[in-house]
Amino acid sequence: MTQSAPVVIIGSGLAGYTLAREIRKRDKDLPLMMITADDGVSYSKPMLSTGFTKGKLADELAQADAGTMAEQLATELRTHTRVTAIDPGAHEIHIGDERLRYRQLALAWGADVVRLPDAVSGSPFVCSINDLEDYRQFRRHLEGRRRVILLGAGLIGCEYANDLRNGGYDVTVVAPSEQVMPGLLPEAAASAVQAALEAEGVTFHLGVAAEAVTGDGETAQVRLNDGAMLQGDVVVSAVGLRPRTRLARDAGLEVREGIVTDRQMATSAPDIYALGDCAEVEGNVLMYVMPLMASARALAATLTGEPTPVQWGAMPVMVKTPCCPVAVVPPPLAEDGAWQVEREGNNVRALYHDGSGALLGFALTGDRVIEKQALAREVPPVLTPLSAS
Ligand SMILES: Cc1cc2nc3c(=O)[nH]c(=O)nc-3n(C[C@H](O)[C@H](O)[C@H](O)COP(=O)(O)OP(=O)(O)OC[C@H]3O[C@@H](n4cnc5c(N)ncnc54)[C@H](O)[C@@H]3O)c2cc1C
Repeated sequence: MTQSAPVVIIGSGLAGYTLAREIRKRDKDLPLMMITADDGVSYSKPMLSTGFTKGKLADELAQADAGTMAEQLATELRTHTRVTAIDPGAHEIHIGDERLRYRQLALAWGADVVRLPDAVSGSPFVCSINDLEDYRQFRRHLEGRRRVILLGAGLIGCEYANDLRNGGYDVTVVAPSEQVMPGLLPEAAASAVQAALEAEGVTFHLGVAAEAVTGDGETAQVRLNDGAMLQGDVVVSAVGLRPRTRLARDAGLEVREGIVTDRQMATSAPDIYALGDCAEVEGNVLMYVMPLMASARALAATLTGEPTPVQWGAMPVMVKTPCCPVAVVPPPLAEDGAWQVEREGNNVRALYHDGSGALLGFALTGDRVIEKQALAREVPPVLTPLSAS
């Protein structure tokens, strides 16, 4: 009975579509169904934070509509359809009252934006941007406005800061951390990025948090916890993303930070797999494109009859701050080592070695970014290579 049911992919982001594409490279006939809560438009999410720099509106970031994708991938594609529950025992997903059987199920449903307390995130002045539709609304909202207050100085906050400056907006960044990209960059690299953004005209309030956002007609008032009050036209919350796990947890799947999988992207439930931003692969939650591409290739092989573990080498993260580009491989959290920093202006080369002198991570900014490939060959892989089983 289950064998007559399709392989079902939930989500039409980069993970869902890449998986479907990789399956079709291997098997033209496998019955496939995709279900997505959004409109199924194919787009590259990283482009959302370079819209002004590249001169692209939301519609210009759309690569193909749902109909085109369904045809190209020879899949049934249900758009604006939200999966509400999974029943692993019955091999069924629920869409409200509807029950739909799967042969194998791939969860590619992404991550949610982290919400700040209601006094901030509940304000109509505050928006978050996590998909093309959010971006469309954001661009509409910006029309005729100038002053943007960005909450969050992580990778995405810094990228938006640079992009909005390139679009001619006044940008103020507020974050409780003492430096930009605190989880990602050593202090020297972070201060280079901050200095370059400041030279572009971005204002920073670091070491303080937004306590409340209130509105006065067209103007937002952002109250900080040091008593300061900022005024802006639009407030963007970019304080982080968290893997979507609720439905998986409710269905009894093992969940930690993300939906727990092994190297074959298999969750704790039979015939259910997870990949992309929602997945935690052997303890790693890597919400970037390169890991999800590798996962999609491995999972496509597994789903078409060739069980294949994913192999993740060292994958430098590129931060799209054109005023000071960054390439970084953060060292593993638990490692006991030290940074060795060379800095000339905003060009930083920071290398992280362990006690035995092995290179475990690096951060490069400005001109030094060109060294990324050579250094990436020296750092250990995220997942040590295994041969296909
Ligand atoms: C602004 C920005 C810039 C970025 N820049 C970079 C970069 O430069 N380099 C890089 O490597 N990474 C970057 N990233 C991260 C990268 O874009 C993500 O890792 C990747 O796009 C995640 O893809 P995904 O398919 O897992 O999730 P998503 O793209 O979020 O897709 C999730 C899909 O699941 C659907 N869905 C969710 N819940 C349900 C449900 N219950 N039922 C049905 N469908 C559901 C959604 O509608 C959506 O189609 C960036 C991210 C952002 C936000």
